[in-house]
Amino acid sequence: MSKLVPENHPALHTIAEEVPEDTITSKEIQKVISDMKSALAACPQGVALAAPQIGVSLRIFIVHDTHADTHDHEGRIPDLVAINPKIVKHSAKKEELEEGCLSVPRLYGNTMRYEQVTMRAFDENGEEYERGAGGLLAQIFQHEIDHLDGILYTDHAHNTWETGDDYNPLET
Ligand code: ZN
Repeated sequence: MSKLVPENHPALHTIAEEVPEDTITSKEIQKVISDMKSALAACPQGVALAAPQIGVSLRIFIVHDTHADTHDHEGRIPDLVAINPKIVKHSAKKEELEEGCLSVPRLYGNTMRYEQVTMRAFDENGEEYERGAGGLLAQIFQHEIDHLDGILYTDHAHNTWETGDDYNPLET
């Protein structure tokens, strides 16, 4: 079982490599995905995780509402696996959003994100798909693809603040 790497780990600050399409269903890549799922399941506030967050420099992220599991309410976002994801379309407008990151504990901040995005990616079976998103899911897509480009939201947030134990918004 893999754990999250610390904020100064090189994988969090490096452009991750594409996964060769014909290796998506290989044992090696499937193991990375299952390690990511168990790492995310161990984060009670977590809703998404990128491979670099467990020290693997590959272009993979997953979405799963662990918060809904642990708080016994219906998840607001779908489960998905995105391999080699690309934003192929986005709204003209950006909005200011509050953001937290599992790799940057006890800190939150405000970032500007596109309101709507369309992402193209491969799923864990190697099938290509396209998915439009707004709201939280659009924010997650942008935050996770930043991770794959070695960018933390704190690299571009216009303000950040420290929080206590009682303040627990979603983290990605
Ligand atoms: Zn993050």
